[in-house]
Amino acid sequence: MKAAPFAYVRPSRLSDAVAELAETRGGGKVIAGGQSLAPVLAMRLARPDTLIDINSIEELGALTRSGSALHIGAVVRQRRVERDPLSGSVPLLRLALPWVGHRELRSRGTVCGSLAHADPAAELPAVACCLDAELTLTGPSGHRRVSAREFFHGAMTTALTPDEILTSVRLPVAAEGDGFGFAEIARRHGDFALAGVAVRVRLRAGRPEATLTAFGVSDRPVTRDVSEQLAAAVTGSGDASADRLKGPLSAVADEIVDTDGDIHASRDYRRRLLLALAGRELSKAYERARDGA
Ligand SMILES: Cc1cc2nc3c(=O)[nH]c(=O)nc-3n(C[C@H](O)[C@H](O)[C@H](O)COP(=O)(O)OP(=O)(O)OC[C@H]3O[C@@H](n4cnc5c(N)ncnc54)[C@H](O)[C@@H]3O)c2cc1C
Repeated sequence: MKAAPFAYVRPSRLSDAVAELAETRGGGKVIAGGQSLAPVLAMRLARPDTLIDINSIEELGALTRSGSALHIGAVVRQRRVERDPLSGSVPLLRLALPWVGHRELRSRGTVCGSLAHADPAAELPAVACCLDAELTLTGPSGHRRVSAREFFHGAMTTALTPDEILTSVRLPVAAEGDGFGFAEIARRHGDFALAGVAVRVRLRAGRPEATLTAFGVSDRPVTRDVSEQLAAAVTGSGDASADRLKGPLSAVADEIVDTDGDIHASRDYRRRLLLALAGRELSKAYERARDGA
């Protein structure tokens, strides 16, 4: 199918983009990489009257590290982040990016576009929630900062108002004693996840703190503190095998999976996938934190 007619503007200043968007009074849409929006337009599931293309806005193209955060502007491509040495400071991002579609899609798709799109089975929203990233939203009344864990309101629904642009995301860089894990199960490589996990373990004075974010199993990424479950699985010799984690994590998996199932997988299958992935990735992240890998 072909998209319904729309006007197209490509401003080179952020203030102009914000003004253009406001002028459409909710009828406009931002386009970044177009990897999710173009198919939706072609199927006429979205019929914006104006597309505001943000790709010529230089200030949105920044990928920088300042102090303890990696800053990713709204038009920075996923593939650029994957390849840039700076992103090595956020290992979870590096672990997750190869799971996002295929390389060709990542060479156009943006990190912020994926966050704004808010597919519940997408990888980057889960990374942002696990790391407690900070998003900057810019509208007619200026900038506001929102934590990733408060940004996702439901499937394809976020804290963005119709006149706001997600201008950047800030992710905390890893510190000594941090370890990460990421995995998902999809029907084919490059497909959205049936279930997936992003995990962070922090060892502070030998005590483990653990955060688990599940995706593909609810209408948004779901984050839980699983420090107690990890501590319960650590043996006297300082190991935490995936098998020992299954028991402590079982109730968490039960509580997180919030779907009746669909044509792809039942609720129980997703719960079992989540439990297996969470045990395995937490065990790996714990080892990485302990061994400084
Ligand atoms: C075949 C295929 C497979 C894919 N597989 C995966 C996958 O496995 N995992 C995955 O996560 N994604 C997958 N995707 C989606 C892809 O990764 C997109 O790149 C991503 O979801 C959106 O990024 P984008 O920059 O292309 O956004 P666009 O397509 O330009 O925009 C997507 C939506 O977000 C809004 N938007 C974009 N940027 C902003 C902004 N800065 N401020 C406000 N609103 C904004 C748009 O208005 C639109 O509603 C797949 C896509 C295809 C076509």
